[in-house]
Amino acid sequence: MAQGTVFVVGAGPAGLFAARKIAAAGYEVVVFNRDIKPGGLAEYGIYPQKFHMKAGLRKQFFKFLEMPNLHYFGNVPVGQNAPLAISELQHWNPMAVVFSVGAQGTKKLGLPGEESKGLYSAKDFVFNYNQLPPFTSMDFSVGRRVAIIGMGNVMVDIARWLLQDMPGQKPEEVTVIARRGPFEVKFDEKEFDHIEMHLDRQVMQDELRRVEERIRACDQDISKVPDTSFPWLKRPPSRPAEGRLTFRFLSSPSAVIPDAQGRITRLTAIENLLLRKGDTTVSKFTDQTTDLDFDTLIYAIGDVVDPTLGLPYEKGSYITNPDPSGAERAAYEVFDSQTGKVLEGQFVVGWARKASDGLVGKARFDAEQGCNHVLKYLAEAPQKTAPTASEIAHELARKSLRFIDKEAVRLLARAEEAQAKAHNLPAFKFSTNEEMLAAIERERAASAPRQAPVGDTEAA
Ligand SMILES: Cc1cc2nc3c(=O)[nH]c(=O)nc-3n(C[C@H](O)[C@H](O)[C@H](O)COP(=O)(O)OP(=O)(O)OC[C@H]3O[C@@H](n4cnc5c(N)ncnc54)[C@H](O)[C@@H]3O)c2cc1C
Repeated sequence: MAQGTVFVVGAGPAGLFAARKIAAAGYEVVVFNRDIKPGGLAEYGIYPQKFHMKAGLRKQFFKFLEMPNLHYFGNVPVGQNAPLAISELQHWNPMAVVFSVGAQGTKKLGLPGEESKGLYSAKDFVFNYNQLPPFTSMDFSVGRRVAIIGMGNVMVDIARWLLQDMPGQKPEEVTVIARRGPFEVKFDEKEFDHIEMHLDRQVMQDELRRVEERIRACDQDISKVPDTSFPWLKRPPSRPAEGRLTFRFLSSPSAVIPDAQGRITRLTAIENLLLRKGDTTVSKFTDQTTDLDFDTLIYAIGDVVDPTLGLPYEKGSYITNPDPSGAERAAYEVFDSQTGKVLEGQFVVGWARKASDGLVGKARFDAEQGCNHVLKYLAEAPQKTAPTASEIAHELARKSLRFIDKEAVRLLARAEEAQAKAHNLPAFKFSTNEEMLAAIERERAASAPRQAPVGDTEAA
C-alpha cells in the first residue's frame, strides 16, 4: 500500500483527474482550490447553455470526491498574495505537490490607451457570465459596437453570449478582429454553427475583396473561402438574426482611443500583410492604419499563467525542466532557473503547464500523463509525513480561512439544484461567495438530525 500525502493545487479538470489518479494509487491526496466549487473552467468557462456537458463533468468530479483518501479544501487560494503561500504548503511536508491552477494571468497587448474602460479579457468576461465570484459583481458593461480580438472557440462563445443570450440590450454589431486572414480561423465549425445566422454575408464578401490581393501573395484564393473555412457563405442564414457579426482580417490593434469619460471610442488597427513561413502563414505590419469605432473590446487571444503563484515564471509560463535529453517527465517538473535545479517533488499539469491549450479532454490527458511521472517519482522518493486532512483543516481554521470541504460542496450542489427546480431553470448558481456560504449553512442546518424537544418520548 502506497504511503504519503500529495497536495494538488487547483481543482479544475486537470487537478481533479490528477487527484483521482494519485488517490487511486493509494496515496492521501489533499486538494486546495481557489474557488468554493471544484471544476475550474468546466464550471466557470464552458458555455452556460452546454448544460449536458457541464452536468456530465460535474457528476464525474463529484464521483472523484467520494474517494475516501481524496480531501478537498475549496475557497483556499494559494500564492504570494493569497492566504496560503507555497512555502506554507511545503512546511506541511507533502511527498509531492502538483500544481494545476490553470492559466489565471491576463495577456495584454501593451497598447496605448489599454487602461480605458470597456476593455476586458475574455477569461474575465466569461467568468462574469458563468457567475464566478468576484467577477459576477464587477462591471462588464457592453455597448453597441463590440470588437473581439481573436478567431478561436472562445471568440465564438463570447459572440454567442453577446448576440443571443446576454440579458438586456444586445450590441448591434460584433466585429471579430484577426491579424491573419479568412483561412486561418481557429474555431470549430460545430461551434460557429451557433452564431452563423448573425454573419453578415454581404459585409463578409466585401471584407474578402478588401484583403483579396494581400492573401493572394500566399497563394490563397478568396473564392475557396466558402468551400473551406466559411461553408456558411454558400447558403443563406438559417434564420435571419438581429445583431450583425462581421470580420476584419489582416488587422492588428495598435492603440485604443478613449472618449471624455475614459471609455474606448475607437481602435486604431494596423493593416497587415500575409506571408508564407514554411507550411504556415504569418502576419507582417505595414505602415498603414485604420481607425474603427468601438465602445467595447474583448481580448480572446488566450491567457498566461498567474505570475504571483510563487513558482519560477518566465514569459507567461511556469518554468519546467529544460532537460536537453527531451525526457517526457522533464516537461512536468518545475525548474528553478536561478539555481539551475529541478524543484524536487513539484509538478505542473494542464493549463498551468501549457496555458489555454485545448479542451477538457486534453487537460485530462496532460494531467494523467503528468501523474504517471509523479507516481514514478513517489515510488522512489524518501518517505515524508504530512499532517492528516483534519489536522490541515484545523490549521486552515486557525488562519481564519473559511474553507469548504467535500460535504459542503455536496450541500451547495443540493441547494443550487433546489433553486433550479423551484424556479424551473435548467441550472442555477449563487453568484457570490457569501450566498454560497449561507446556502451551505442553511442546508447543513436543514439536514442536521433534529434535537428531540425536552420531554419527547421515543415512541413515535
Ligand atoms: C471560454 C472557454 C470555453 C471553453 N469551452 C470548452 C468546451 O466547450 N469544451 C471543452 O472540452 N473545453 C472547453 N474549454 C477548455 C477547458 O475549460 C480547459 O481545457 C480546462 O478547463 C483546463 O483545465 P485546467 O484544470 O488545467 O484549468 P482550469 O479549468 O482553469 O482550473 C484551474 C483551477 O485552479 C484553481 N486555481 C487557480 N488559481 C489558484 C490558486 N492560486 N490557488 C488555488 N487554486 C487555484 C481554480 O479555482 C480552478 O479550479 C473552454 C475554455 C474556455 C476558456
